[in-house]
Amino acid sequence: MAAKKLTKTQIRTLEETLREERAGLVAQAEDLRAEAGVDRWRGDGSGDDIADRGTASAERETAATLSDHASRLVDEIDEALRRLDAGTYGVCVRCGQHIGFDRLEAVPAAALCLECKRRDESGR
Ligand SMILES: [Zn+2]
Repeated sequence: MAAKKLTKTQIRTLEETLREERAGLVAQAEDLRAEAGVDRWRGDGSGDDIADRGTASAERETAATLSDHASRLVDEIDEALRRLDAGTYGVCVRCGQHIGFDRLEAVPAAALCLECKRRDESGR
């Protein structure tokens, strides 16, 4: 069953969600970047034994990975917002079918319809 074209109200709802999500992710990425950054770890010397340093660097790596992930999601949302501006939001970038509100409600930055996404994941 083909998904329906989005109504103006649905687009507005999704745009709001995208902007909120983006703001949240940007804040999150900044926090994580700060955490991954060296500044915080430039010693005050307290409890700075080798075990602590090991944990700190593992935590830093995790923070860096999460921050990368958040940045990528921000990029995806930016793409979605660009498609909103261009009036192509909600349309699959691959096959041109409507993505459908249900899917976009769950994944507002989705660029592919469910079929194309599945095809992608099954490795073609
Ligand atoms: Zn598609």
